[in-house]
Amino acid sequence: MEQVKLQNRSVILHCINDAGSISRKDIAEKTGLTAAAVTLICNEFLRDKLIIEGESVKKEIGSGAGRRKVLISIDYKSNYFVAISIETDRTVIAITDMQGNPSKIETIETNKNCPPEEFLNSISDCAKKMISECDQEIKEKISLGAVSIPGIVDAEKGKSLQAYGIWNEEVDVCKILKEKTGIDFVIENNVIAFARAEQIFATGKYKENVLVIKWGPGVGAANFVENQIYTGFRGRPAELGHFIVDPNGEQCVCGQRGCLETFVSAKALSQKNEQETAEAIDKFAITIANLARVLTPDRVILYGELAKDEKYQSLLKESAKKYYRNYTDKKMRYTKLEDCEDYIGPVSVAIDVIFQGK
Ligand SMILES: [Zn+2]
Repeated sequence: MEQVKLQNRSVILHCINDAGSISRKDIAEKTGLTAAAVTLICNEFLRDKLIIEGESVKKEIGSGAGRRKVLISIDYKSNYFVAISIETDRTVIAITDMQGNPSKIETIETNKNCPPEEFLNSISDCAKKMISECDQEIKEKISLGAVSIPGIVDAEKGKSLQAYGIWNEEVDVCKILKEKTGIDFVIENNVIAFARAEQIFATGKYKENVLVIKWGPGVGAANFVENQIYTGFRGRPAELGHFIVDPNGEQCVCGQRGCLETFVSAKALSQKNEQETAEAIDKFAITIANLARVLTPDRVILYGELAKDEKYQSLLKESAKKYYRNYTDKKMRYTKLEDCEDYIGPVSVAIDVIFQGK
């Protein structure tokens, strides 16, 4: 029973989030839950101050004189998060509300030359300083921290298992951060976290099947349909960057030869002339087209520093036209979460925890 209730809780919160504001009756219609169940759960949200009741509005048709319905919406200022996005080159720390509106943002260099705990200590020090500078009202509402990081993550145990060069050992990230800050932390792979953001704030609102691709400095991917993100064994992300595109190609950091990343990572592209660049990006387009044949996404969403580069993006789109069935520029485009892409991933992982009532 508890499991069903938690699931219903998450379904209702996603429904309210997708709609912006909505009546209880419409939630029941959209989710297929009974009106009684919706009312019961919404009362809990009201008690926890997670939702607010908006202005009453007149019912539109056939409602007789003066019948009104109350719209409810999520109170995005009810919780604040410490969002930490660890990337290969830099780490962004932000304190935001549930819509990703930042109160504070800091960027520090990702220190790969010290023990992981030492680097996590410097992140904690920075986060604590940022929190101390927040208004009292925000401080009191900081309920959770979330970390996104490249590589393999054990979300259940709060660990990074392999972060490809940031560190190469198992690191108890959430435990260490909690010890230093006193705040509970969750962790997720960076591309899965960003897919979560697309799901909650952008394309996911339209029930689309979306393939999210991060391009720069490496290549990663995640796929979701509605509220479900598809991952591999034990939540592993899709290793698009390690699709083999030339078996006789260069040695990749992963041990294989000719992985996509050996052609189109930031490092690889920086060493190529114009023609080599076009050829490498052509291989990328073929890989995306092949993957799209399997996953049949409504849309491919790109993000990351290389995808943002106009020259690279237009080369990719030119090539995609050749291979991608029914390609249009609307089918593959840069994320609309551009302004907050540095930290919206971990914010979304935190929101998901709140939605699920964990
Ligand atoms: Zn590889």
